[in-house]
Amino acid sequence: LFDYAPAPESRDIANLKPAYRPFVDGEFTDGAGEPLKTINPATGEVLAEVGTAAPSDVDKAVKAARRAFEKTWGPMPGSERAKYLFRIARLIQERSRELAVLETLDNGKPIKESRDTDLPAVAAHFFYHAGWADKLAYAGYGPDPKPLGVAGQIIPWNFPLLMLAWKIAPALATGNTVVLKPAETTPLTALVFADICRQAGLPPGVVNILPGAGHVGAEIVRHPDVNKIAFTGSTDVGKLIQREVAGTPKRLTLELGGKAANIVFDDAPLDQAVEGIVNGIFFNQGHVCCAGSRLLAQESIVDELTDRLRERVSTLRLGDPLDKNTDIGAINSAEQLAKIRELTEAGEAEGAQRWTSPCPVPDRGFFFAPTVFSGVHQSMRIAREEIFGPVLSVLTFRTPDEAVAKANNTPYGLSAGIWTEKGSRILAIAGRLRAGVVWANTFNRFDPTAPFGGYRESGFGREGGQAGLEGYLDA
Ligand code: NAD
Repeated sequence: LFDYAPAPESRDIANLKPAYRPFVDGEFTDGAGEPLKTINPATGEVLAEVGTAAPSDVDKAVKAARRAFEKTWGPMPGSERAKYLFRIARLIQERSRELAVLETLDNGKPIKESRDTDLPAVAAHFFYHAGWADKLAYAGYGPDPKPLGVAGQIIPWNFPLLMLAWKIAPALATGNTVVLKPAETTPLTALVFADICRQAGLPPGVVNILPGAGHVGAEIVRHPDVNKIAFTGSTDVGKLIQREVAGTPKRLTLELGGKAANIVFDDAPLDQAVEGIVNGIFFNQGHVCCAGSRLLAQESIVDELTDRLRERVSTLRLGDPLDKNTDIGAINSAEQLAKIRELTEAGEAEGAQRWTSPCPVPDRGFFFAPTVFSGVHQSMRIAREEIFGPVLSVLTFRTPDEAVAKANNTPYGLSAGIWTEKGSRILAIAGRLRAGVVWANTFNRFDPTAPFGGYRESGFGREGGQAGLEGYLDA
């Protein structure tokens, strides 16, 4: 079972055969690409060497996926497919401790988040979609909706296993086969997932996992025998993929970046709002596409709200992601840390007031202390660009109309939050926000039954819920 695991006593990476490798047609293969090293962001040390895919491996994986689609998975009754998905969900639960630790090591997120949020959500996603596999006739896409075929799936590093679940569970439930590329900085849990597919007895070729850098993703996108591309990642790469797919019969769904507004009215329960704001921007170090990165506070309460917020943020513990008490873990990579630093420096240069949590910051690894900017103007880069880090920009508004205008003043449209005691105000405002998800008096709530996705530069298509099935059906 653990033949792919890194030898724990060997620190001599140069002499290690790639320990994690591409998973193609039911087997771990060597992969003809250049091996990559994945780093533990909490220490900066190499965690494992990973074999990667070359174009020839992409072709093999797509061919294996095509064979499985035609010979085993495609023709299989939904009730049988459901059994595999249930089995995978159970195995994820059984191996959740191993997966949570590995996710934390590879990604840098606090163990309490990978253990209590990511892993339960991953299993839930497979259980939920197992339930759909034999009920597609009731999904609203006709009496006998057909799968598309081979799905090419490309995912980012912020929720490595959860993004995999969002992609693979609906694809398999609907009868498609997949070729998935994890992000280059977080490939490890996807490869343990491949092992879980083997353990579940999933027919070879149904799931293929190809670690590698962006060019492996580009190769999957270009492959002529792929029927659908599902991409989660940055808006820039999403646009590249959209151009590549244009003029081909491939179907495409894109889950891209965001710059969510968290709108707090003067009648909001402030203690609850503070918790929601903190969760909205500091959960997962702010590496969250729907992070509430713009706080829109009503002018009359902005001082009190920011005071309370600073007080609460000062209590967050930053440090070793494997420590169960850690609230803020490591930034996933040196590149991401540099990007966060650049944008926060721009915030100061443009005149916003910077406050940094006084928490101690480890002297090795990639860490960034929670930061709150006040006096932010809409034109500043920290109000417009996705920082993807633990950095909150505070803006103000006077009237509900101004709140809506400012919230919508972004090229993105993924999520938003509203905090107020007035139910009528929630309904009135939610309908006017150009965001795929609007939370009221809460933030960052997810459920496999609820569709998730964006407008405008946040992409198109939905994942999760009944609506998420559409992206994988020839409906
Ligand atoms: P990224 O776009 O750099 O990379 C995402 C994936 O695409 C990686 O696997 C990468 O290797 C691959 N890739 C890179 N270049 C490619 C190319 N030319 N063709 C095909 N694949 C290519 O994004 P990232 O930095 O890994 O992730 C952060 C971004 O993801 C943020 O913008 C965030 O908002 C977004 N995100 C969105 C959602 C959502 O559901 N909307 C969820 C999570 C993350």
